[in-house]
Amino acid sequence: TVGAVALDKNGNLAYATSTGGIINKMVGRVGDSPCVGSGGYADNEIGAVSTTGHGESILRVNLARLVIFHLEQGKNPQEAADAALCYMKSRVKGLGGVIVIDRTGEWAARWTSVSMPWASAKQDKLHFGIVPGMVHITDI
Ligand code: ASP
Repeated sequence: TVGAVALDKNGNLAYATSTGGIINKMVGRVGDSPCVGSGGYADNEIGAVSTTGHGESILRVNLARLVIFHLEQGKNPQEAADAALCYMKSRVKGLGGVIVIDRTGEWAARWTSVSMPWASAKQDKLHFGIVPGMVHITDI
């Protein structure tokens, strides 16, 4: 997956999610990435989310919308991401990752999968992160 979330100077929030799918996928499989609410979600009042990981699990829990729900309930982006990812892991044994930004520009990149390279940019400042071989968050 290649995903992106963005907040522009006018307060617009957006997401994009692109994928090649998973290895040995069935012919005709429609994964999570093109499905709004699973592969991503954006709402100018709340935030934007792009997801990656096991698509069938992401579809079952509607992962991106679940992150947005937790933001709406008052969690910050990291807390919302962790709550949604932990739910997916415990409820359907699915691993994945999300990038999240809220309407204030606070953001998080969180994952339960083995690794999830990410990069962030604020105006002209670019920041990269990669943490391979690590389960990044723990179950609630
Ligand atoms: N979520 C994608 C899929 O299951 C896989 C990926 O994260 O690249 O199709």
